[in-house]
Amino acid sequence: MMAASLELLDRELIVSALTVEARARVSQLELHSVLDSTNTYLLTGALTGWPSGVVCLAERQSKGRGRQGRDWLTPFGTGLAFSLLWRFTLPPPALSGLSLVTGLAVARVLRDFGVAEVGLKWPNDVLWRGRKLGGILLESGATADGVHVVAGIGLNIALPRQDAAAIDQPWVDLREILQTERISRNHLAAWLISELVETFVRFQDQGGFASLAAEWARFDRIAGQRVRLNLPQTMLTGIARGVDATGALLLETADGRLQPCIGGEISLRLEP
Ligand code: ATP
Repeated sequence: MMAASLELLDRELIVSALTVEARARVSQLELHSVLDSTNTYLLTGALTGWPSGVVCLAERQSKGRGRQGRDWLTPFGTGLAFSLLWRFTLPPPALSGLSLVTGLAVARVLRDFGVAEVGLKWPNDVLWRGRKLGGILLESGATADGVHVVAGIGLNIALPRQDAAAIDQPWVDLREILQTERISRNHLAAWLISELVETFVRFQDQGGFASLAAEWARFDRIAGQRVRLNLPQTMLTGIARGVDATGALLLETADGRLQPCIGGEISLRLEP
């Protein structure tokens, strides 16, 4: 059950609270009561020619997805789950770093919303004091029109404990961080969508991640820590040393070398 004081999402309210720039770039904004996954919905739409700038939100996801086949829990009305479809005209290598940039956009908004200690765990987990507040899933596809990307954001606002029992890692929600039930989901949704759209426009104009690397580093919560990277075939351990201009994690290995690791199928864990 959602908390009584939480407001339901309202399409008109969200559209009217977008920034002027975002409103000009959002081609369509859909609000659904239930979707299996907002990312799946837009990926399917992208293949049938939906334009750049389609946003869809769902009050509940019945099969919300994380990376590598993991689940993202979205009970009705307890958080935000939305995706944005974007068509980039950059060459695919320049798109590396986009998942970090998405995390950066979310972190900026949350910091300004009062989550002073919001941080990022490479490539794009949204953390507060080491607990997972949000997740980001970037997926891409290609058609004759070029490359498209779907960026999905899941954020906990007031997650009921009984639902959260299924989550197998430390988690947190905004209600606990901000110590209030009075959180405007519509206002926060509009703010996040606006920031994401404006960030994608700038990413396209600037041709990639390089100019945002320094800002990303300010939210980096694993720099200097011992980490383990689980790759599909192997495992690497070392000390996280930030990211390079493409968004690759720089891992200091036992021999002192800095090894760049790119995202995709890599999962990072802190070493105990
Ligand atoms: P990685 O660091 O590789 O991204 P991850 O396990 O954190 O790994 P995600 O794809 O970001 O992967 O998220 C999925 C995981 O997040 C789930 O396996 C579960 O542990 C956790 N999770 C699922 N729903 C929620 C939620 N609402 N809030 C916090 N954590 C959740």
